[in-house]
Amino acid sequence: MSNFAYDYIIKYIIIGDAGVGKSCLLLQFTDKRFQPAHDLTIGVEFGARFVEVEGKKIKLQIWDTAGQESFRSITRSYYRRAAGALLVYDITRRTTFENLLIWLEDIRQHSNPDTTIMLIGNKSDLESRRVVQFAEGEAFARQHGLFFMETSAKTAENVEDAYVDTAKDIYEKI
Ligand code: GDP
Repeated sequence: MSNFAYDYIIKYIIIGDAGVGKSCLLLQFTDKRFQPAHDLTIGVEFGARFVEVEGKKIKLQIWDTAGQESFRSITRSYYRRAAGALLVYDITRRTTFENLLIWLEDIRQHSNPDTTIMLIGNKSDLESRRVVQFAEGEAFARQHGLFFMETSAKTAENVEDAYVDTAKDIYEKI
């Protein structure tokens, strides 16, 4: 099998308020690096990487909605094509947690009903600035039937697992 061959292709979208770390979560997964703070022009919009699930080589194609949050202009087709959605909030900013319901409504309205949704509480490295407790994220996820994980795009903690666990759930539905 050549390096470019794969068994399946799975598409993800990353959504959530501006500044929660969507671009960084994409970059950490595809390039294994972190863009230092204050650089507001990361501009990553698309990435891809191979993962292995149950011996199958799966190509993950990931779209980041960076910059589109304030316009609510994310198109229906963008949602419709995604088998997985990473819904991200920032554990150091409560408003990003409170806005989750709006995002969830948006996903549920525009995507396929069987889309796998992984709720991500990002910036777990900033424990001293935490305002949203782990149990709150967990409870929200349970209530709405989502997977849940806390990650750090900075230290890479749980980043791989967030993507791969989502892929495993999607693969089981294929
Ligand atoms: P986006 O608007 O959701 O795409 O957010 P970005 O990926 O541009 O990140 C916003 C800011 O948060 C940037 O300054 C990042 O460096 C910072 N950031 C993102 N993820 C993390 C993280 O896990 N930990 C820390 N400490 N900072 C992060």
